[in-house]
Amino acid sequence: MRLEGPAALRERPDLVGMEGYHSASPPARVRLNANEPPGPPPSAWRDELLSELAGIDPRRYPDPRAQELRAALARYHGVGEDEVFCANGSNEVLQVLLIAFGGHERRAALFWPTYALHQRIARLSATPVVLGPRDASFAIETAVATDLLREAQPAITFLCSPNNPTGAVDELPTIEALLSAAPGLLVVDEAYAPFSDQDAFGLRGHCDARRLVLVRTFSKAWALAGFRLGYCIAAPEVVAVLERVALPYHLDVATQLAGRLALRHEAALAGQVRSVVRERSRLASQLADLPVRQWPSQANFILFRPEVRPARSVWEQLVERSVLVRDVSRSPGVEGCLRVTVGTPGENNAFLGALRESL
Ligand SMILES: *Cc1c(COP(=O)(O)O)cnc(C)c1O
Repeated sequence: MRLEGPAALRERPDLVGMEGYHSASPPARVRLNANEPPGPPPSAWRDELLSELAGIDPRRYPDPRAQELRAALARYHGVGEDEVFCANGSNEVLQVLLIAFGGHERRAALFWPTYALHQRIARLSATPVVLGPRDASFAIETAVATDLLREAQPAITFLCSPNNPTGAVDELPTIEALLSAAPGLLVVDEAYAPFSDQDAFGLRGHCDARRLVLVRTFSKAWALAGFRLGYCIAAPEVVAVLERVALPYHLDVATQLAGRLALRHEAALAGQVRSVVRERSRLASQLADLPVRQWPSQANFILFRPEVRPARSVWEQLVERSVLVRDVSRSPGVEGCLRVTVGTPGENNAFLGALRESL
């Protein structure tokens, strides 16, 4: 096919009409729309980072295999260094997984509603997507899901637990059943696992564990969204494929350093996670007194649906009061809902006050 005239400037036909990823971000004093943590990493982390950055040689490419960071992560999780792959945010981990294991002759399966990026990155990698359902409480019905996987034979099946935007965890027996039934990789996006009382790590002992990929991020519990660092824990043969596919030197020296040093401050960051979990229950009990429906959350946010006024106008009134939450009200499966990140006690009070006024 020859590309001439306007066609030469046109994107791939399967991307025509695809919108960019963006969410409304008007100025607001209280920003509870992106699931960022309420406080920064400890100041000792900042001091160590600045002093180590002073010693780097910027002429040199970074370590292409991020050995020191991987070793630190392997120690942290008690896994082998060859079972860890790091990238620019967990979104890049997902992208490399889809480039490597997806493609136009294979399929990806996911259960809606869930994190929009799974479907989006699948589409960018030309991987056809099969959507499975979740029930009214956003849970996956095991029999429905295993039937779907046997039928669709996806090369990659995505779960997200705790799920974004619902906050619900997938029960371990469900994840285990999907691991047995999925013919290809089962990727569990655990961005919010540190805020939850369960994760899928224990399934690494399962007989099908070589197909299990656990994806984690430094963007939420580790308070490093600005540095773009994520990773996965997977079988060495999966990690080896990801390394072959990733761009050379994709992870820059500052990002590698930031993550490695953050792991030294696990205790301080775990303290911040505990206070988010405490604030989450306080927020939930206060929301219970308002005319909203909310769903139980194991993440650092709560999904709720205003019952007396349309979500969009509630969102606008919150913005007028300088409180920004995420409007997911037009997203299929969570129609009419808003999602609020758990912030500091002061931010949460500002949100509750503005919401009360609006309702
Ligand atoms: C926020 C989030 C991430 C984080 O993505 P990064 O690229 O690591 O910042 C990953 N998965 C889910 C479900 C998220 O909500």
